[in-house]
Amino acid sequence: MAKDPVCQMNVDETKAIKAEHDGQTYYFCAQGCKDRFLNDPERYLKRNS
Ligand SMILES: [Zn+2]
Repeated sequence: MAKDPVCQMNVDETKAIKAEHDGQTYYFCAQGCKDRFLNDPERYLKRNS
């Protein structure tokens, strides 16, 4: 399982929506979460660290 960085939900990599940012692949539960992430990736990545 991977974690959706936007809503913090666990998502199945085989079914999740993928996006690449800065050489890393991120997984999302829904298109809306992916859009939010790509609009402002730093905001969501900071919250994880
Ligand atoms: Zn999500």
